[in-house]
Amino acid sequence: MSGSNPHIAIILNAGMGNMIPFFRLASVLLSNNCKVTLITGKPIVSLAEAKHLNFFLSKNPQMTHLEYQILPPEPDSKADPFFLQYNAVRRSSYLIHPLLRSATFSAIICSFLTCGTIPRFAAEIGVPCYVFSGASAKFFSFMIHLPAILKDPEIGDKKKNSSFWEVPGLEPFDMSSIPGAFLNPKHLMAVDAMVNAKACLEATGIITNNFEWLEPETFSALNSGRVLCGTLPPVLPIGPLECYEVEEDQTDCLAWLDNQPHESVVYVNFGSRTPMSSDQIREMGKGLEWSGSRFLWVLKTTIIDKDEARQEEVLGVSFLDRTKEKGLVLRKWVNQQEVLSHPSIRLFVSHCGWASLTEAAHRGVPVLVWPQFGDQRVNAEVVEKAGLGKLPRSWGFGLERLVEGEEIAAKILEIMGDGSLRSSAKKVKEEAMKATEPGGTSHCTIMKIIGS
Ligand code: UDP
Ligand code: UDP
Repeated sequence: MSGSNPHIAIILNAGMGNMIPFFRLASVLLSNNCKVTLITGKPIVSLAEAKHLNFFLSKNPQMTHLEYQILPPEPDSKADPFFLQYNAVRRSSYLIHPLLRSATFSAIICSFLTCGTIPRFAAEIGVPCYVFSGASAKFFSFMIHLPAILKDPEIGDKKKNSSFWEVPGLEPFDMSSIPGAFLNPKHLMAVDAMVNAKACLEATGIITNNFEWLEPETFSALNSGRVLCGTLPPVLPIGPLECYEVEEDQTDCLAWLDNQPHESVVYVNFGSRTPMSSDQIREMGKGLEWSGSRFLWVLKTTIIDKDEARQEEVLGVSFLDRTKEKGLVLRKWVNQQEVLSHPSIRLFVSHCGWASLTEAAHRGVPVLVWPQFGDQRVNAEVVEKAGLGKLPRSWGFGLERLVEGEEIAAKILEIMGDGSLRSSAKKVKEEAMKATEPGGTSHCTIMKIIGS
């Protein structure tokens, strides 16, 4: 990219976990004198996305906003609404081409999950294209191997025996950490992943909300030409991406946190779209209560936004009454970037969405990692290895089994008392800060991409 004031097109993908890092990236580009055009598809899946997008646009009026109409979703009423949306956005990617011709862009940034025809089109019009991967580098390396993995006629048996998949240049993948959907070539997720895995090879680079220190072996393998026989573009960590201004927290959780002692609170939040079953919610409640700890619990029971059931109905009035001195249960969106920065937070119980994990890494908050689906199990292994979290393997992956209150309470107490985890999480924070400050690895990469 060359010249002053580079003009960058950012093509947004669906879901808060994808949208938030893109807004962070757009903010970094704007603060480095870039012009930014944000391209979004309609309709949008959740109210949360619509609210955040509108707020972001209103705060950054200098940005251009272009919209296109997304093709109708596949008629599969049982599929996850966000997967249907990724698929529809990916199939609609050719509708974005005219928008990419409407100005002289110095670079195009799109999401790995929906990149479709964009990298090839960008190459045709001679504009550098960066594909953004919103998962750990380890999970990304699995995704780019997916076309080869799915060609293996023995894949079904390998998955059943939860054996390992050997990959050149990388540690073997433990197949039990990979959700079945990815290993079923007919599943929507696998179909999309295979298209995107091939498409991203035509990009100028893969950028990711990550920092080299967190996954050194994986970045080194990906960038040494050993993976995919040198056909992979450079994989460039540019994170953890900084916070940007979000709408003021409508809950009183920050005021509540102000009244809690230093490093005393367990914060539970399973992201924007991972619901817990009613049984698991009750066991979680017991676990928090029996641990005797203070807690802030953002409770979610539906995939899209929130349902109308009141928390008294889900948890019972007596639970809320017994724990009211120590705990705050909310069924609303909280400002997680501020919650995790609050000095009262001691432990984060997370579903291991990559955006949440990078936020915890940036603030050095230890994490009890409880992966539920998708990339989350692999992400969990990555942060455990880096010293940010602890993964209770006996809890299984996702909804494999009901984890009981006693186990949850014991694990919370064990991790809260783990001094060595607290120090290693602080080390992760130091390295994250080093990467993002001027001269740091992630900062330099962003500057190189911008061309300044
Ligand atoms: N988030 C938030 N408040 C909430 C729930 C989520 O601010 O109550 C933000 C969180 O900080 C993160 C994103 O939403 O930036 C969730 O992304 P992640 O990849 O962790 O999980 P996903 O929601 O995609 O499963
Ligand atoms: N939200 C969400 N996941 C949740 C809870 C809330 O995405 O688990 C979003 C919700 O869609 C809305 C915003 O957070 O955009 C505010 O939440 P809520 O609807 O609870 O607040 P209200 O509009 O009732 O004040």
